[in-house]
Order: sequence, then structure tokens, then C-alpha cells
Amino acid sequence: KLVLEVKDLTAVISESGQKILNGVNLSIYEGQIHAIMGKNGSGKSTFAKVLVGHKDYEVTGGSVVFKGENLLEMEPEDRSLAGLFLSFQSPFYGYIMPKLEMVNIKADFLNRNVNEGFSGGEKKRNEILQLAVLGAELAILDEIDSGLDVDALRDVSKAVNALMTPTNSVLMITHYRRLLEFIKPTYIHIMDEGRISKTGDISIASILEKEGYKAMSST
Ligand code: ADP
Ligand code: MG
Ligand code: MG
Repeated sequence: KLVLEVKDLTAVISESGQKILNGVNLSIYEGQIHAIMGKNGSGKSTFAKVLVGHKDYEVTGGSVVFKGENLLEMEPEDRSLAGLFLSFQSPFYGYIMPKLEMVNIKADFLNRNVNEGFSGGEKKRNEILQLAVLGAELAILDEIDSGLDVDALRDVSKAVNALMTPTNSVLMITHYRRLLEFIKPTYIHIMDEGRISKTGDISIASILEKEGYKAMSST
């Protein structure tokens, strides 16, 4: 079942009118994990924020259908209630916090040691991640690997993997290949200058590692 269908999405920065998204196309089905990679400044976070309805950006064209509904007509709060969740940057902490306790119970059931060895801040972050995956039909995880050492990353990834079900989906954004060793995506997309310039399977990541993003944008 199709969860998210993005067609020719364009968006600008509200304040300046600067074009950031230049025609993004992406379809995500239930149970899939999609990764968006790309160099810094290519528009990955902007895409994530546009999907949740961040006020800094204005959609200028294209369409986004989420679970059969026109997402672009929905208020940010309603997108969240409909099951779309962006890690960290989400302004909807009022919605998140009451659910954290439920997440802890379920995470504990799945993996008793899931929060062991995390510092206070990391623990909170891990809890929010778990919530994203558990409570959302589509969880967007933006650079969850930033600032985590390999052990912490392994644990966070374990939690994400354990919480995947046949009906939820994940869109994870990362600059680095490292995360993909722990969370295996169904598809990898390369974002370049505000559009997806290439889509493929895990083999894209090894080309990236060998040749860098330049090899991707020129093909
Ligand atoms: P990525 O996540 O791929 O690193 P971003 O989506 O954060 O890229 O940014 C894409 C481009 O848009 C960058 O050049 C960035 O400086 C610019 N940009 C994004 N959001 C804003 C904003 N709110 N105000 C000004 N410039 C922005
Ligand atoms: Mg960036
Ligand atoms: Mg970013």
C-alpha cells in the first residue's frame, strides 16, 4: 500500500523566496525503509521540513499525498496526528511527551537494555526516535547518526529495526554511509540541488564511498 507519494515538489524559503526544492519525486510503500543521502546543503532537511509543514518554507508546486489525503492542505498538527513524524525538529512536543511512557514500556518489552549505557541527553533522543518509529506510520529520521559514536549508533539502530512493522515506513536522511550498515534501506535516493538525482539499492552507497557525491550528480 502506498503511504507517501511526492510528485514534482518545489518549495522556496518563505522569507527570501529562494528556491530550495526543484521538483522532488518519491513514493514510499508500507513496510519500506528509504534513505536520502546527499551532500551538505542539497535540500535534504528542507524536504523533511516541508513534508511536516514547517512555516519557514512555502510550497510552490507539485503534490504530496499521504495515506490518500492531500498532505499540503493539512495543518502541521493534523499531519502529525495522521501519523507523519519528523525526529527532533518536530515542534509538536505536546503530542510527543504523553506518549513517551508508552514507548518506554514497549521498548522495554522489545529490548530490556535498549537505553542502557546512554547518557541523559542521548536517552531522551533515543526515546524520541523510538516514538517516531513506534507511533508514526511514516517516521522521518533526519541525521540521527550525527554526534553518535558507533556503539550508540548500533543501539539506536537496533531500536529502530526492532520497532519496524509491516505497516509502518521510515524515511531516513543521512550524509554518511555508516548508518546504512545498521539500518538497511529498501531504496537509497541521492538528493542533489533540490531534487532526487538517482535512486537505487544498497549498491549506490558503495559507489558513493568510492567516488563521492560528484560521481552521482554527473551520471
Ligand atoms: P541539507 O539538509 O541537505 O544539508 P538543507 O535543506 O538544510 O540541506 O539546506 C539546503 C539549502 O537551503 C542550504 O543552502 C541552506 O543554507 C538553505 N536553507 C535551508 N533552510 C533555510 C532557511 N530557513 N533560511 C535560509 N536558508 C536556508
Ligand atoms: Mg546540512
Ligand atoms: Mg540537513
